[in-house]
Amino acid sequence: MLNTITSIYHPKFSLISFSQDDVVHFPFHDSCPACDAVERDRTVLRLGQPSWQKTVIISQCIDCGHVYYKNPPPPDFILRFYNTLWNKNRGEANVDAVTPKRSMKCKIASMVVDLGFNDKTLPILDVGCGHGPQLSGLWETGFKNVYGCEQSMYRAIAAGKRFPGRIFNFGYQEIPKIVDATGMPFQIIYMNHVLEHIHTPADAFKTIAGCLRDGGVIIINVPDVIGEAAINQALYLPHLHSFATASLAALGARYGFKCRFWNGGRYDELCCVFFREEAAINGADMARFRTAQTLTKNAINAVFNKIRQPWTEDSRRIVTLSWDVRKLSNGRTFIKISRLQKRLLSLLERIGDFALRSRLVTIKPIFRRTLLPLVLGKQCTHTTLSYLEYYNSPLASDDVPMIRFVDGTASFLIK
Ligand SMILES: [Zn+2]
Repeated sequence: MLNTITSIYHPKFSLISFSQDDVVHFPFHDSCPACDAVERDRTVLRLGQPSWQKTVIISQCIDCGHVYYKNPPPPDFILRFYNTLWNKNRGEANVDAVTPKRSMKCKIASMVVDLGFNDKTLPILDVGCGHGPQLSGLWETGFKNVYGCEQSMYRAIAAGKRFPGRIFNFGYQEIPKIVDATGMPFQIIYMNHVLEHIHTPADAFKTIAGCLRDGGVIIINVPDVIGEAAINQALYLPHLHSFATASLAALGARYGFKCRFWNGGRYDELCCVFFREEAAINGADMARFRTAQTLTKNAINAVFNKIRQPWTEDSRRIVTLSWDVRKLSNGRTFIKISRLQKRLLSLLERIGDFALRSRLVTIKPIFRRTLLPLVLGKQCTHTTLSYLEYYNSPLASDDVPMIRFVDGTASFLIK
């Protein structure tokens, strides 16, 4: 039996483990981290062993739809994780050769163009800039007055080689120092897929807002609570939050900001621009932006069910998963699901959900590989598949993993 539960993603990317002894020291959010509503949350799932008295609770705010760990690992625990496992497993020490993919570079640059910012001297700050892919996109678009900060030393060094003197090796808490150093508040400050990693997003938002010049804008890109894979929301602990349009809007409103959502992002992300006055986005191509929508009760419930359903005993999907996943991938890349989707759906119809449990172990690995995304909510994502791949890695134990889900508690067992 494992004495820790593990958040699983790709072995090269990340891994957070904690024991019950750790959980005892995880403090609770006393209000919704997005809209600040008190006692408006409900428990979606609990993460822990059946024997644990204390578990990590995944909550949903019934006012704004925000999904979050109610007692997440605290900031020092998370920082330790990023400075050790995350960086180590991602090969951060060898980032010299990293060249940003074109698809990664265009997003912020495209948003800035759609927002109508043509003055190439505008000061722009990337908070959590990584190796600097988004900064590269802006640079190539002509914006040269760009700065970045990055918590990971390795990444900050890599970005600093590309942008000498413009990258600072610290987190959001210290960005007022950049304003002091450069002598200017910023026109645009953005966080691209960073805010969902931060323990208290409101702190980060408030700090950023304090470094903005009059008429400046904040851009926040995060996974969308509706589009994000359920397996991520349940088990991928580096993401401490899953935002809805309503929760982002509510977060901004706490500090006097309105917002619009950009139409150019991925289906599973929200790209949000915050501003104090409408005049700040006067030049924007408004056809490219939409207003925040309040999530209906039905939509909020749909998210709740999406995350909870695969793990509950009465699920019509699988409640017990057990197989030797080391045989699944054989080191090959995963096949595309579209090729077999039709065939698999007919297979599902024939054998039925209940029988699926026992039949899964007998069907061919190639079927199982494509079947899993279907049974886990028809989420065909790399993340879902990676969940299996973990056990195929050198980090895994030699035991055959068994994962049981009882009464909304997700437990990892080794049989
Ligand atoms: Zn809320």
